Amino acid sequence: MKSNFEYNLCNWCLKRQYIKNYRLKEIVEDCEICHGIENQIYKISYKIIQATRDYQYDTFLIGLTLDHSFYDNEDKFRSRFKIRGKENIKASLLREIRKNFGKISNKKIDLNSPDITVNLQIGKKFETTVSVNSSTVILSGRYRKRKRFRSISNNSDNVDCLEINQRHIENLLKKKLMTLFHSKSIIFWPLGKEEPESLVLGNGRPFYVTIKNSKLISFKHGFSIRSNGLVFNIKEKLPILPKAIPFYIKKVRTLVTCEDNLKSSDLKLINDLGIRIIESYSRGYKSWNFIYQMQSELKTQKKFELLIVCDNRFPIRRFINGDENVSPNLYQILDKRCMCEFFDILDIASEDD
Ligand SMILES: [Zn+2]
Repeated sequence: MKSNFEYNLCNWCLKRQYIKNYRLKEIVEDCEICHGIENQIYKISYKIIQATRDYQYDTFLIGLTLDHSFYDNEDKFRSRFKIRGKENIKASLLREIRKNFGKISNKKIDLNSPDITVNLQIGKKFETTVSVNSSTVILSGRYRKRKRFRSISNNSDNVDCLEINQRHIENLLKKKLMTLFHSKSIIFWPLGKEEPESLVLGNGRPFYVTIKNSKLISFKHGFSIRSNGLVFNIKEKLPILPKAIPFYIKKVRTLVTCEDNLKSSDLKLINDLGIRIIESYSRGYKSWNFIYQMQSELKTQKKFELLIVCDNRFPIRRFINGDENVSPNLYQILDKRCMCEFFDILDIASEDD
């Protein structure tokens, strides 16, 4: 059995064993535990710098998979001298790499929610591979639509119209964000929908975006994106998506055509409505929405403008067109068949606005 003086250990490995009176030796590569891995720390840090140079971030975390031979060497030494409960080579190496990389990159370590996570694999002969993952970027913003999109076929039903419009907006936003964030994994979550012909004015429609594998993780200010008459205002970066959908009220302007001539007493029926609860069925689900206010103004004998203040999820067109799954609808209130020509969103507001 070797006495401890016969072991060749570098000072870096020796310090970790906490042995008193051990004779220090001027060795590095001959170290029987690490074979001089301490000298690799700068090289490894530089490799991480290379791997992360395209990322814009503030905080990082580094994980390490180290070849088992290094543990085996250390275990052998420790069992010989019955050393227990001391920091092992991996923990020690990782701490040094984190410290060194932090110094070179001028970025901060964050153990809980780092902007990027670096995974290191170090082999027996110090072969090092570096992989980088960035945390999902979650943005909140609003979009305004100041141009009407081209009307689509009258054959498609309202649900299709809303879907097509949303997909179109989503594609425009994604195209811009892909270039900006160098990511192909983007999800768009708007709060509510409108038709292709609808304008979205005021502060715009709230939305969230999640971006995976982004190269841009840290930025200080909100920003705006313009595309095809749309303005997307990105307000802030969120740590997580909200657990419940925030509550919003919308103000809508619509043009309504009536099958019969209208009298001012008809419009009185609408204007005097007060607050109403409207029940609606859609795809097997029942929901209730409030109309807080309705105001109408005669434009021609058969046309009137209708301003509605209601919950954000209220189905405007179905209400006006007298959909039997919306109750009461405008037909039931007015006793006249009506049709919604178009509707524009004048504003969407939350209690915090
Ligand atoms: Zn060593």
